[in-house]
Amino acid sequence: MSTPHFKSEGWNHTPKFLLTKMPYWCWPPQPWSIIRWLFKNFLQVSDRALFLMYSFSIAFWLMPFVPTGAVLRWDWAALVLLRNMIAVFLVVGGLHIWFYGIDGQGKVLRFDTRPITGSKNTLFLFKCQTWYNMFHTLVFGVPVATVFEIAVRWVYASGFTVPAKFAESPVWFILLFPVLAIIQALHFHLIHCLLHRPPLYRHVHPVHYRNVNVGPWSCLSMHPFEYFLYFSSLSIFLFLPAHPVHMIFLLHWQLLGAPTGHSGYEAVFAKNKARILIGGFFHQLHHRYYECNYGSPEFPLDKWFGTYNDGIEKMTMKIRERKRRMHAK
Ligand SMILES: [Zn+2]
Ligand SMILES: [Zn+2]
Repeated sequence: MSTPHFKSEGWNHTPKFLLTKMPYWCWPPQPWSIIRWLFKNFLQVSDRALFLMYSFSIAFWLMPFVPTGAVLRWDWAALVLLRNMIAVFLVVGGLHIWFYGIDGQGKVLRFDTRPITGSKNTLFLFKCQTWYNMFHTLVFGVPVATVFEIAVRWVYASGFTVPAKFAESPVWFILLFPVLAIIQALHFHLIHCLLHRPPLYRHVHPVHYRNVNVGPWSCLSMHPFEYFLYFSSLSIFLFLPAHPVHMIFLLHWQLLGAPTGHSGYEAVFAKNKARILIGGFFHQLHHRYYECNYGSPEFPLDKWFGTYNDGIEKMTMKIRERKRRMHAK
């Protein structure tokens, strides 16, 4: 099912709506559109809803924040690391096996025409894109994310935060989930622009952007300093009134949600139906053209600052010219 919707080179499939305009940013405000969008994306079958359910199960059952977290100990810290490792193996590894291992849906809803790089590519450590990405994800990525989670658990247990409880402020408690996704998009845009400046662009960011064509393991393939910037979004819980479940949600939005968006496919397709949308065409364009789409559709700074590319020929030419000028300096 190859469905090109516009003239552009090299795409096997592109989403019907190239960049869905987030209803948050419509003017005049459209509250009903926002409510409909939130209902569809947080309370029906979707990646956000799954991460939300998983976050509640951790925060209220599997691994709640407890006062003993004020004492840093190897035993509970190791359990946090183990839980994150298992989650990444299941979600990121599972998607990789489905898309690129057993070729579960072939090219159906796949963006790029080219396969991800196989073996014998000297650009990558171990001469293999997937092993290279797994190495960075498991040796640096998950441990750095875990250190941030442990730090926030310690901060909560030590009473250095402003707690928020559902019973005291239910509206804030509920709204904070979509608000956190918006804040994360802003944070990501800012650190990503920084990563495209020297010396970070030359010495830090290449670990990630070496993945011109992406798969699920590409997302968390980063330089250790990029991980630090990426997960530093969690330090917001030092200032923001929140419950531990909010922190767990944001962590998994970045640890599992972003890799699903790097799958290279718009959705998991099985039995003649798109089962769950995971598409990250917006960011896939960044991996191909570099100097565009630094953020995410959640916060349209790219639109406002002229770095937005929806993949249409005209926009792509503009971005190519911009990239040529930037790199000619
Ligand atoms: Zn990426
Ligand atoms: Zn980049």
